[in-house]
Amino acid sequence: MDDDFPGDIPPELAGLLLTVDLDAVAGNWRLLCDRLSKPCAGVVKADAYGLGLGPVARTLAAAGCTTFFVALAEEGLRLRRILPEARIFVLTGAMPGTERVLTEARLIPVLNTLEQAAAWLAHAPADAPHGLHVDTGMSRLGLPPEDIDALPAGFAPCLVMSHLACADDPGHPLNAAQLAAFTQARQRFPTAEASLANSSGVFLGTGYGFDLGRPGIALYGGNPTPGAPNPMRQVVTLEARILQVRHVDTPLTVGYGATHQCEGGTRLATVAAGYADGVHRALGNVGKGILGDQSVPMVGRVSMDLIVFDVTAVPAGLARPGQSITLIGPSHTADDLAAEAGTISYEILTSLGHRTARTYVGGP
Ligand SMILES: *Cc1c(COP(=O)(O)O)cnc(C)c1O
Repeated sequence: MDDDFPGDIPPELAGLLLTVDLDAVAGNWRLLCDRLSKPCAGVVKADAYGLGLGPVARTLAAAGCTTFFVALAEEGLRLRRILPEARIFVLTGAMPGTERVLTEARLIPVLNTLEQAAAWLAHAPADAPHGLHVDTGMSRLGLPPEDIDALPAGFAPCLVMSHLACADDPGHPLNAAQLAAFTQARQRFPTAEASLANSSGVFLGTGYGFDLGRPGIALYGGNPTPGAPNPMRQVVTLEARILQVRHVDTPLTVGYGATHQCEGGTRLATVAAGYADGVHRALGNVGKGILGDQSVPMVGRVSMDLIVFDVTAVPAGLARPGQSITLIGPSHTADDLAAEAGTISYEILTSLGHRTARTYVGGP
């Protein structure tokens, strides 16, 4: 197993096939920089949202991206091996005792609390760069603005950032409130680079640009402007291989709990993917796939390794073992599948498991 590439099961042995269009990732990064009129970092936490840290990070770097954000130091160490020159920020900051590990790998913690700031100054080399997260309305990570005055003397972040809670809802009043609070907070650190916008924030207007954008999901084709057409290029195709096709002559039920009843004259296709692969169990009886150019419904519950589709509407020649049903593609996106599962595309992509065969097209 390649250490930067966990999803390496051979496509011919896999039930679930993920194809990642790396040229689309690069195109999306350029589009986001253009929209913000500022450089953008690449947010590549959680194995680049499940798409593979190595291929995605190398693609972004080749496109001109020099700054990356990961959630955990461990992800930063992995990225450091892939991109020796990149500037890598760790959003969870410096957990106690990790100052040495971080500085040896030239990882830059985004410090979140007074305790983290004091520990960093006490234990990291004096010139080791550090960032600061100021909380402006998320109440998750970051220093409350009123604590800025209590930062230790000598604390000089190279980056000051905050995170928007409602950027995907442009009319939400919290956006303007966070913008105002961040504008004020960043004035306290005039020499630091400033960063506020995630993917949806990029589309709130160039006032949200500051010095650096921090998009994640839009790089990977998720719609940063829900309710409006998706401005991003599609990156992900996810296909599940058909194992078996059954012609139903007499009424019967499908799957655990017998939650779906089908009549005679139905054709059912069973695919080799299930909730253990990250196809959420909540999709049972509500999820859809694409076969040929037809939408086909999931019927019955999603099992650990198997899902059944009703393929009656599809010409028999198309629904055969070895062929695949598309779960994510141009006409049924990760956002669509997520909506059917009652979740967001972020969770769909980051749930894809290690049984998925990943294929990359394009890229450096
Ligand atoms: C995940 C994350 C991002 C990227 O968010 P998207 O909505 O995927 O663009 C940016 N900043 C922080 C602090 C994050 O945690």
